[in-house]
Amino acid sequence: MSKVEFNKETGPREVFCGLTSIVWLHRRMPDAFFLVVGSRTCAHLIQSAAGVMIFAEPRFGTAILEEKDLAGLADAHEELDRVVNDLIARRPEIKTLFLVGSCPSEVIKLDLGTVAEKLNTRFLGQVRFVNYSGSGIETTFTQGEDGALKALVPLMESSDDEKLLLVGTLANNVEDRFKKIFNNIGINNVESFPPRQSTELPKIGKNTKVLLTQPYLSDTVRDLEHRGCEIVYAPFPLGVEGSTKWFLAAADAFKIPELKVHEVIAPLANRARQALEKHTEILRGKKLFLLPESQLEISLARFLHNECEMDLVEVGTPYLNKDLMEEELNLLPDDTKIVEGQHVEKQLDRVRASNPDLVVCGMGLANPLEAEGISTKWSIEMVFSPIHGIDQAADLAGLFSRPLKRNQILTSKTLATH
Ligand code: SF4
Repeated sequence: MSKVEFNKETGPREVFCGLTSIVWLHRRMPDAFFLVVGSRTCAHLIQSAAGVMIFAEPRFGTAILEEKDLAGLADAHEELDRVVNDLIARRPEIKTLFLVGSCPSEVIKLDLGTVAEKLNTRFLGQVRFVNYSGSGIETTFTQGEDGALKALVPLMESSDDEKLLLVGTLANNVEDRFKKIFNNIGINNVESFPPRQSTELPKIGKNTKVLLTQPYLSDTVRDLEHRGCEIVYAPFPLGVEGSTKWFLAAADAFKIPELKVHEVIAPLANRARQALEKHTEILRGKKLFLLPESQLEISLARFLHNECEMDLVEVGTPYLNKDLMEEELNLLPDDTKIVEGQHVEKQLDRVRASNPDLVVCGMGLANPLEAEGISTKWSIEMVFSPIHGIDQAADLAGLFSRPLKRNQILTSKTLATH
């Protein structure tokens, strides 16, 4: 077990809420619709996060709870009914409708589970209703995906077929490449969850081996385990090291020799290491501070230290599941300081005191830090960019080397004008 230093912190937080995950989930499942039951603020957040689609009908929307709804539930139910009826009449292509709870719907204790049950009866055979919470009261933005996937697990039929199930949203082209590599290694029955069509949920059972692609799916993993699936523990497929160990763990679960994996991935790994060099030149020896937001921080820290030679000042994570993260923690240097949770004021004090070269943080903190002369990288970019896999390692490193390079250029220009 790694000897990293663990700390916990609670206090004011500065993170996006789970509604944000709708942005990548609705791209993944084009036959699904995400209906946020929330306020105008929620509608505004989701519209600005996703951009407004002008030529296509959007696949997300908001049933607005007005201020008067906070006094009673009757109007909220009425508004929800009106929006759902309208949507289903206008959009026959919708196969699954996610009712997404928010802070306002939780505050007025709107029971979306019961609403979904009633709607399932009314629209039986036409549209499936599923509910989960994207509220920011307790969760951060990636946990929205955990809630959505957990809500789908009871709908997955049972099967004892042996298969590898990749769990966590991937960019479609990354998923295709992973499947090709697994096939070359000798694992042929590979499925993904979430699937590309919401109605094509994989069947699961005791011979399903679950390999996570994202670290923030603790609740989904727990429910898959309850359904009899075997969890394959591995580092996450970021960078050459993480991806190699990820493939090796899957191969081990299918009793495929290590040598076969190395044979298949060696050319990819060699190319990726070469492509990484130009980024490592910029990142080597630079001090990195990761503030907690996405739960990807530990895997990113491992990649940026082990493959790009950055120095880790502090690695924040909003939540730490030690079982899922053990393989990652073992790869971190022994003196790594990990902080679970957030007290944003204290963390910012530590950022300023340590004078890092780069801070990975939420968008709300990036501008003030930049104004103080500290380079930043938005953590949300990691979930919108295809960063998984060996051949994406250089692109992932590029996300961090670019702001440093830009700063170097700006600094040298400023010096030249003085
Ligand atoms: S769910 Fe809560 S945190 Fe998210 S936009 Fe709505 S009110 Fe804000």
